[in-house]
Order: sequence, then structure tokens, then C-alpha cells
Amino acid sequence: MRLLIAMMKHETNTFSPVPTPLSRFGTGPGPLYGEDAIAAYRGTGSGLGAYLDLAAREDADIVLPIAAGAPPSRPVDDNAFEHIADVICDAVAKKGFDGIMLDLHGAMVTESREDGEGELLRRIRAIDPKTPVAVSYDMHANLYDAMIANATVVAGYRTYPHIDTYDTAKRAGEILLKAMRGEARPTIAWGNVPMLPHVMKQGSDDHPNKELQARCAAMTEDGALCASLFTGFPHADIANAGLSAVVVTDGDRALAEQLRDELLDRAWVGREDFVYQLEPLEQSLARAAALDPPQPGEGPIVLLDHYDNCASGGTMDTTAVLAAILQAGLENVAAFAIYDPAAVQQAIAAGIGAEVALAIGGRLAMPQIPGDSRPLCVTGTVKTIASGRFRNKGPMGRGVLTDMGPSVVIDTGRVEIALISRHVEPSDLNCLLALGIDPMQKRYVMLKSRIHWRAGLGAMAKAVVECAGIGVCTSDYSQLTFKNVRRPIYPLDLPNR
Ligand SMILES: [Zn+2]
Repeated sequence: MRLLIAMMKHETNTFSPVPTPLSRFGTGPGPLYGEDAIAAYRGTGSGLGAYLDLAAREDADIVLPIAAGAPPSRPVDDNAFEHIADVICDAVAKKGFDGIMLDLHGAMVTESREDGEGELLRRIRAIDPKTPVAVSYDMHANLYDAMIANATVVAGYRTYPHIDTYDTAKRAGEILLKAMRGEARPTIAWGNVPMLPHVMKQGSDDHPNKELQARCAAMTEDGALCASLFTGFPHADIANAGLSAVVVTDGDRALAEQLRDELLDRAWVGREDFVYQLEPLEQSLARAAALDPPQPGEGPIVLLDHYDNCASGGTMDTTAVLAAILQAGLENVAAFAIYDPAAVQQAIAAGIGAEVALAIGGRLAMPQIPGDSRPLCVTGTVKTIASGRFRNKGPMGRGVLTDMGPSVVIDTGRVEIALISRHVEPSDLNCLLALGIDPMQKRYVMLKSRIHWRAGLGAMAKAVVECAGIGVCTSDYSQLTFKNVRRPIYPLDLPNR
């Protein structure tokens, strides 16, 4: 058996100013190829890790031409997409594969196309119309017909935070292996409903997504090979942004359509529960200040700077929430993080223990949202200088190498501010530990995150206070100008009916 395995992942925030060149894809920088990619992902809790494990179990020969994954940002540079697609398609063109296993995101927009994944799959099918293709998609995929029509089997994450990336690829891969052996004839039905579930309401521990994902899992008892509900990624001004569902059955189209419709109907009925209620920042911080400090053994109060999540395309350099925390005089705070490679270099030049006055953040203009974030002047001691590289503790992406770039911690006396040089969302405990910050010793931890922080730090948090700041993953969707999404769409246009 011979398998082609590849990864191409990018969640595109079309409102983001953060560039997406080829160098953003990968750790260090740029994509990994061939043996380097295999070495980086074998044994990890990632989608590629699952495909590699399946291949090993089946004693298959593998070709892994490229592993290209970038943190979310603006539409992908055309030449970056063309390069990644070319490397994969060149491998397909060499022929001789029994199956193709792809780890894709599903919300990739390029400079020229709304649907990067659909274009990749269309090209693969044009070269090789026959070899079965399995695709694993992120729960935030915005589905287009080409993403489904050119695949043999499709599976989506069922957890957000995404702690089932491995399980999802394994599910897709197992069904593909069955199809390759002639033990199943996958038939796919997909569809969408005109709704943009709010990201802050998409957590799979929360109603209504919890019940929707549980129903997907239970559908195997009703005859589905695999059922997936995609909450979609709303910070994308493209026609098909929003919620969709995919059901794969063994040759039973009617059943696939029936189960798909059930998922879409359930989601539509629950649409009001996907709407997020905003709270002014001053009110949130006043609430945080009034909370009792953590007792010994209790974890910190998390202050969530959710408008500026780099894993949703945020610049990670807005300073509104951090400035308000300093202004409010909160004590014993750690803040993760402000992306500012230049300020990091200034702190490194000053050295550990030096007193520094730095202007941090606020460097990248955000023309697509109202308001702007200016640099924040802080004075403090350089407490930590670090490489910024660590392996994820998990449960998200266990064992995967993460690179924050050169990183420092500035201690103002009240607030320890992490400054980093590559975009990394605080979804793993080790991002703090790698900088010498133990969140269990902190009264407050400010995190630039929305849901993924729960993977690494959720269980230890004493409380969470969501703080409205500034950023291109704004939770106030009235700040976003949608020109291309299909209309009408809930809740932008439709009344609560
Ligand atoms: Zn996602």
C-alpha cells in the first residue's frame, strides 16, 4: 500500500492586516518537506500524526511532500498558495498511490480565491480522478461544494478547543482505508444554513454546540460512517461563511441527506443561543477587581482579551485591555502576550535585570475595523529572556513544536508582560512556563484568546472575565463590513424568528 499524506492549513480572517507569505507556513520559518515533515509530526497528537500512525499500522509506504500550516491572518499570498498546491499536485502527478490523506483547515481564502481547499482538491482530482481522498477539516471550516465534491470522505473536528485533531484525521483515514479495501462506498451529503454562530459561543463544552457535536458522534448508531457539524469562521467576508454540516454514509444517499438536514435544522433552531452579549471593558474590569483573590491551590482569574486573538487573525499587538488593566491598578497580573519583535530586541539588548522604558504594540494598522491601537509605554525590569520554543504539553497538539520567537517578560511591579516575536495563542500551559510564568502564582492572567485557552488553562482558572478590547477578531460584529457573504444571514440581517 502506498499513501500520499499532506497538510495545508490556514484560517483566513479577511479583516486582518497580518500578512500571509509562504514564510508564515511552518515553524522556523516556512513549510516542512518530506522527511523533515515526517520527523516533526510523527508521534504527535496532530492530524498528520494520526495519518502517519495509520500508515505505520498498515505497513504502507508513504510520501509526505509538504506540511504547511500558518497561524490565522489575512488572505494567503497567491504565490504561497500556488507553491503549496504545486508541491502536493506534483506528488499526485507521480501516480501510484492507493489513497490520499489530507489535513486541511477549510477556511483558507487566498488573494484570488474564496476557497483555497476546494481549489487544491479540484486540481488533485483533475490530475487523478480515481484515487480515494480523505480530508480532515477544522470545525471553523467555511464549506464550498468543491471541498466536498472532490473528496471521498470528509471529517470535521468535534471539539473547540480543538483537542481532537488526531481523532478527526484518524476517523477520516479509517473510513478511507475501508473504502480502499472495498468494504465501504462512502456517499457524502453536505449543506449549510444562513447563520454566523458567534465564535465566543462556539465552545464544545457550551450549549448549543455541545449537544450538536454529541449528536454528530451518535449518528454512527443511525448508520452514518461519519457526521460533522462545522460552526464556521465568521471573520471571513466570503459567500459561504457560516455553519454547515457533512454526513458520510455507506452508499445511502437518502440517509446522508436526512441526517444532514437534522443537524442543520437543530443548529438553526438554536441560532439565538449562538449570539454573544457584549459588556463594556470598564464594567468587566470592575467585576474582575471585585472577585476574591485566589486561595492557595486555586488558579488565576483569567482576563480574556478576546478581540485580539492571533489564532483568529488578530495582530496580537493591541493594547486596550492591557492599558486598562494597568490603569485599574490590578495587582499580581501576568499578560500573554504582546507581539512586538522590535520591543523584544530592545529588551534583549538591555539584558536581564535592566530597567527599561518601552513602547510596546500598536504597530500594525487595522484599516478594516473602527478605532486604532496605539503603542503603550511601559516601564519595568527585564525579568526573562527566552528562545520562545517549546513542545506543547497538550491536550491540544501534544508534542508539536511551538515557536514564539525570541521572547521576553517585562515586570512593571504589578504586571508581568510577555512580549513575543511570532504569533502564538495561549492555548498551551507551556507558553507561560517557557517564560518563567507560573499562572498558579498569579491573581490575574490576561490572555489574548477566545476559546482555545481553555485547552491548557481552563481547568485551573478560578474564574474568567471576558474583556472587550480592540482587534480584528472583534466580538462586536457590527464593527465588520460584510460585502460578500450571502445575504440575508443570521444574525446580521434576520430577526429572531
Ligand atoms: Zn478552528
